[in-house]
Amino acid sequence: MFSKILVANRGEIALRIIRACKEMGVRTVAVYSAADQNSPHVHLADEAVCIGAAPSSQSYLNIPAIISAAEITDVDALHPGYGFLAENAHFAEICESCQIKFIGPSPAAIRSMGDKMAARETMRKIGVPIVPGTQEAIRDKDEALRIAKKIKYPVIIKAAAGGGGRGMRVCHNEVRLVSALMTAQHEADTAFGNSAVYIEKYIEKPKHIEFQILADSHGNMVHLYERDCTIQRRHQKLLEEAPSPSVDWKLRKKMGDMAIKAARAVNYVNAGTIEFLLDDTGKFYFLEMNTRIQVEHGITELVTGVDIVKEQIRIASGEKLGIRKQDKIPLRGHAIECRINAEDPANDFAPSPGRIERYNMPGGPGVRVDSHAYAGYTVLPYYDSMIGKLMAHGRNRNEAISILQRALDEFIIEPIKTTIPIHKEILRNPLFRRSQMYTDFIQAVMGEWMDKMAAERVMPQLVAKER
Ligand code: ADP
Repeated sequence: MFSKILVANRGEIALRIIRACKEMGVRTVAVYSAADQNSPHVHLADEAVCIGAAPSSQSYLNIPAIISAAEITDVDALHPGYGFLAENAHFAEICESCQIKFIGPSPAAIRSMGDKMAARETMRKIGVPIVPGTQEAIRDKDEALRIAKKIKYPVIIKAAAGGGGRGMRVCHNEVRLVSALMTAQHEADTAFGNSAVYIEKYIEKPKHIEFQILADSHGNMVHLYERDCTIQRRHQKLLEEAPSPSVDWKLRKKMGDMAIKAARAVNYVNAGTIEFLLDDTGKFYFLEMNTRIQVEHGITELVTGVDIVKEQIRIASGEKLGIRKQDKIPLRGHAIECRINAEDPANDFAPSPGRIERYNMPGGPGVRVDSHAYAGYTVLPYYDSMIGKLMAHGRNRNEAISILQRALDEFIIEPIKTTIPIHKEILRNPLFRRSQMYTDFIQAVMGEWMDKMAAERVMPQLVAKER
């Protein structure tokens, strides 16, 4: 086992990793930007090194500074968390060449799944179903038009190097396709440094179902069942649950087997996630693989009892998986997670950074909160807006919902705006209660509620103006 690990991240995931290390008796090194000096991960780690100024490019993405911190503190491994450098194969390679064990898959596996087009091709070859679409980057508009005609509208343009719900454009007709193609290529180039885009059939009314994979370096691989991440806003997850209310044991077996097959195709080692879209006829399609720990890993931990972060560390140190037989993986009850973001749902989810004056964290049976926030903490504008994850675990879905509802009532974060109100609304929605939701749920079902909230916000100002 390692004696010291550097945590190359911030926020709640840095805390989560430090907690796992402490329980395993492994010392930790935090790295932080100048703006994060009051963050809990800095104080909870055994050592902390400032790696640069507030912007991520100068700190959490600053490879030379992070490697220097690792060398100075003499760590034997590094956990990248999610986001930042977690899926950067070049960074994983540098770690390896510096004799620092990267707690994640091999650079080759990261690379082969990092390019979505290449990943689609790998899946097609081994017989894992993919969404109909192109196998190569689109060269020009004529090619795009020809393909869209063949697979039929609506279609979706995606960046080969895309991620985080960015760089995607849905097109319902030829005019839109032609205009979207150019902007998509340009955007992909600016955002990801790679202008390659491809076209897929846009699956209407799908559910997002993903399988958690764990694999060790001895050839053992299992999945920890699925998570349902259908509740999204602009293709970004907002609420997740495990298991999926739309997947029965027969489908779970079929999808789970495919997920294992997909991960085996790239000789995957460590924790990873295979994402699928499930359509309303029960057909499913490979979407992508995330070669890192996911934000939503906690709900899988709640229903399986497996500590995924500890497993990641053990796997990286060469140990075998804790549970190596698929049919021995427990699945107990139901867990749901609400992402608590510093965003204003009544104002098109505008970021709402600022100081938290009042903070009350929920607790009690069945509740888990992973957050780095506290009263007096300032949500910074430089990084993503997630300030925590509220999870509930019940014997069944209804119980998990009830626990979550009372926990959301207890959760106070003021005066900044957060996603707490929209989570309360989702949980009381009859379609959600009946699991009749698709990836357009927020837009299609919550639209009216968001308009009402926005109007209530604006009205007092209008009234004041009229006076
Ligand atoms: P990213 O890597 O940016 O997260 P994904 O490929 O994982 O992008 O897709 C994110 C979300 O976008 C999906 O969960 C789904 O809601 C939507 N999406 C992606 N591809 C399609 C498609 N072909 N049809 C319908 N929805 C899609």
